[in-house]
Amino acid sequence: MTSKHHFSFENTEVAFRHASNSDLNRAYWLFRVINVNFLVKIGPPLTNFAIKVGLPIKGLIKATIFKHFCGGETIRECEKTIKTLAAGKVGTILDYSIEGEDDEQVFDSTCEEIIRTIRRAVKDKAIPITVFKVTGVGRFSLLEKLDKGDKLTDAEQQEWEKVQQRVLAICQKAFETGIPVMIDAEETWIQETIDHLALDMMRRFNKEKAIVYNTYQLYRHDKLQSIKDDYASAAKEGFILGAKLVRGAYMEKERRRADEMGYPSPIQPNKQSADIDYDAALEFCTDHVNRIAIVAGTHNENSCRLLADLLDEKGIDPKNTHVYFSQLLGMSDNLSFNLANADYNVAKYVPYGPIKAVLPYLFRRAQENTAIAGQMSRELSLITKEVKRRGR
Ligand SMILES: Cc1cc2nc3c(=O)[nH]c(=O)nc-3n(C[C@H](O)[C@H](O)[C@H](O)COP(=O)(O)OP(=O)(O)OC[C@H]3O[C@@H](n4cnc5c(N)ncnc54)[C@H](O)[C@@H]3O)c2cc1C
Repeated sequence: MTSKHHFSFENTEVAFRHASNSDLNRAYWLFRVINVNFLVKIGPPLTNFAIKVGLPIKGLIKATIFKHFCGGETIRECEKTIKTLAAGKVGTILDYSIEGEDDEQVFDSTCEEIIRTIRRAVKDKAIPITVFKVTGVGRFSLLEKLDKGDKLTDAEQQEWEKVQQRVLAICQKAFETGIPVMIDAEETWIQETIDHLALDMMRRFNKEKAIVYNTYQLYRHDKLQSIKDDYASAAKEGFILGAKLVRGAYMEKERRRADEMGYPSPIQPNKQSADIDYDAALEFCTDHVNRIAIVAGTHNENSCRLLADLLDEKGIDPKNTHVYFSQLLGMSDNLSFNLANADYNVAKYVPYGPIKAVLPYLFRRAQENTAIAGQMSRELSLITKEVKRRGR
C-alpha cells in the first residue's frame, strides 16, 4: 500500500539512521537467532537455570538481547539511548521494568524509582511521557481479590491503602511537574481495579491537561465501549480523558484461563475484530481530540497509517500534544523514525532495570519475533534490507 503522506514505512535509511554498521550487524544476528522457534523455546528455561546456578551469563545477555531492547540497568545508563532517539526526533518513555515482585519494600522502592523517571523528564523534551504498572507498586493477588469484590482483611485493607498512596504519589508528582504519566493495562482479572484507580486519578489531575492516561486493550470485546463511556464521564465531569490504545499483550493467558475456569473469553473472536475495534477507537478519539489525549501504542503499520490519515483528514496538527505514536525500543524503527521524520509526535518505551528483573520482558520480545511458518520476521527483513542498501 502506498501512502499519500510524505513518509514511507519502507524507508530503512531513515529507520536505521541512528544505527552504526556494527549496531546493525548485532541486530541482524540477534534477530537471526530469535527467528528460530526452537531456540526461543529453550532460551528462557536455559537462561533461568544458568542464572540460578550462577553461570556468568549476565555479561552475554547484557551485550546482546538486553542491549537491543533495553536502555540500561539504571536511568543513567539510558542516557545514551535517550540522546540517540532524540537525534531522530523520537522521545523516550522510561519504563522501569520490574515484574512479578510481591514485597512491600520493593513496591516502595519501585514507586520512588518511577518518581525519579518523572523528575528526569522535567524540562527535557526528549522525555515527553512517563509510565508505570500498578503491579509494580502493589501485590497482584491483592488486586485480584479487589477485582472479585472479596472482603479484605484489616491487614489487606492497610496494604491496599498503601498501594493507593503510591499511585497517588506518582500521579501527584506528574501533576506538579506537568509530565504526563500512563498506567499500563494488565490481566482482565485485575484490570477493573486498575481502571477505577486510573479514572480517579484523571478526575483529580486532568482538569486542565492530560496528565494521567489509562490503557485500553482493544483485543477485549468490551473496551471500545469503555472508551466511549469514559469519554462521556470526562465530558460530563469536565476532565480530559488520557487513553493509551493497545491491542493487548496477554491473549493466550486470557483465553486459557477463561477456558479452564469456564467463563466466556473476554478476548475478541479473531484478530480482525481486534483490528476493527482498534481502528474504530482511533476514529472515535480523533473525533474528540480536544477532550481525549491518545497514545497509539502499536507496531501495526495499517493502524499507524490510519492515524496519520485521520489527523490529516480532520485537520489536526501532527504536533498536537493530544496525539502520540508509540513503539517499543528495538522494534518497528521503520514506524517510529519515519513518523518522527514526518513531524508526528513519537515516543518509544525504553525499558530499564536490573537484568534479572527484565528477563521476562526480554523473553516476550524474543517470542514475538520468532518466524511464522518459516518466514523471516518483519524486523529481520527490514534489517536485511538496510544492510543491503548500505552495500555490505
Ligand atoms: C508503546 C506500547 C505500549 C504497550 N502497552 C501495553 C499495555 O499497557 N498493556 C498491554 O496489554 N499491552 C501493551 N502493549 C502491547 C500491545 O498490547 C500488543 O501486544 C503489541 O503491541 C502487538 O500489537 P500491535 O498492535 O503492535 O500489532 P499486531 O501485530 O497488529 O497485533 C498483534 C496483537 O493482536 C491481537 N491478536 C492477535 N491475534 C488475535 C486473535 N486471534 N484474536 C484477537 N486478538 C488477536 C493481540 O493483542 C496481539 O498482541 C504495548 C505496546 C506498545 C508498542
